[in-house]
Amino acid sequence: GKGAALVTAWAYRLADQTRQIAETLAEFRLTQEQLMEVKKRMLTEIQNGLSKNTQSTATVKMLPTYVRSTPDGTENGDFLALDLGGTNFRVLLVKIRSGKKRMVEMHNKIYAIPIEVMQGTGEELFDHIVTCISDFLDYMGMKKARLPLGFTFSFPCRQTSLDAGILVNWTKGFKATDCEGEDVVNLLREGIKRREFDLDVVAVVNDTVGTMMTCAYEEPTCEVGLIAGTGSNACYMEEMRNIETVEGNEGRMCVNMEWGAFGDNGCLDDIRTQYDTAVDDLSLNPGKQRYEKMCSGMYLGEIVRNILIDLTKRGFLFRGQISETLKTRGIFETKFLSQIESDRLALLQVRSILQHLGLDSTCDDSIIVKEVCGTVSRRAARICGAGMAAVVDKIRENRGLDHLDITVGVDGTLYKLHPHFSRIMHQTVRDLAPKCNVNFLLSEDGSGKGAALITAVGCRLREQEQK
Ligand code: BGC
Ligand code: MG
Repeated sequence: GKGAALVTAWAYRLADQTRQIAETLAEFRLTQEQLMEVKKRMLTEIQNGLSKNTQSTATVKMLPTYVRSTPDGTENGDFLALDLGGTNFRVLLVKIRSGKKRMVEMHNKIYAIPIEVMQGTGEELFDHIVTCISDFLDYMGMKKARLPLGFTFSFPCRQTSLDAGILVNWTKGFKATDCEGEDVVNLLREGIKRREFDLDVVAVVNDTVGTMMTCAYEEPTCEVGLIAGTGSNACYMEEMRNIETVEGNEGRMCVNMEWGAFGDNGCLDDIRTQYDTAVDDLSLNPGKQRYEKMCSGMYLGEIVRNILIDLTKRGFLFRGQISETLKTRGIFETKFLSQIESDRLALLQVRSILQHLGLDSTCDDSIIVKEVCGTVSRRAARICGAGMAAVVDKIRENRGLDHLDITVGVDGTLYKLHPHFSRIMHQTVRDLAPKCNVNFLLSEDGSGKGAALITAVGCRLREQEQK
């Protein structure tokens, strides 16, 4: 009768909808072959970044850091550190003691950087930074001390020494004017000069490098640093003879890969989806950092949001109603994705998270949303793992080894907060670099401690030069 026909039509529509959603998400499910291809292309781009002839146009820039060794335990002294470019801006005091009772003690304070300052003028940004340092020194009661300072600046910098770094371009949420092409150590020193006090800026440090150094302080086999957080990047100890952009062939130097820009020459276009393109187009830096936009915390939520908008338009979600919330950029922060994907949560709780974000969902909606999140973060973890597999295999080949044991120091909110990212990433590295035994070590506050360790080395080098 009529009733049965309606049920059949309804069942048919449901099956069709399920199929269409599955097809949409299928594009995000990369095969093992595709991942191996990502690894291979990363190796090609690494080579382009290291070689003299291709370096100037390379997308993966492979920037020399002038860090030539990991810590040896003789580092000593009191240092200030700044951490700019991650989830929080912080000022830190780091006390390092060498010898039998090796130890590191830290005090830090988090400061907000209002969006108007992140995207205002460079002078305003650096004035703000200096105001925060000044407040911190007051707070610690040490305004008079002239401490050496390490500046963790988590953006691509072309360095010519430990204490000089020209900002290549802003990434993530920053867009302050008059900084690109400038030495950020100079910008900081000028900001300090505009105030009454005095500081000694000794080193500019990428967060990946700080992370590697922090882990290497505890674990000498650590020669790689990885950040899977707001942004995505890695560094590792490369042979000097392979770094054609720096004089000398002896020993090693840490290279800041800036792998977030992988794909900017179009080499990942075959795995990018319409949603990746949409996220890129709406970003502060269209066409740039394409790999980062597929695997870092700042963008995963945006990919999810774009898929949800599309599914809603097609009538599969939220009763076909695109709410103002869903139109809002940045609503799905890493912490929400992490909550939604937590296995311990019942669907009712997923619905309450969505509710909290201002999204009215049915039970079916929440199932779909959770699946979308899982698919997007799984792809992120796997392509990040493919990149890391390229790095460890490169190191193994450098050393002419059939088998390499190595430790990777890791930090970042995505790695630390997400319930599945780290496990999937580790597994991918194991699958794609079977000749390497990779041990992942979580860095405890790499940006602060690492900057201080590098500053300590910088101070020692300076004393040696003065002798
Ligand atoms: C920056 C890198 C940084 C990474 C992680 C990227 O956007 O370009 O310098 O290491 O984010 O913070
Ligand atoms: Mg950080």
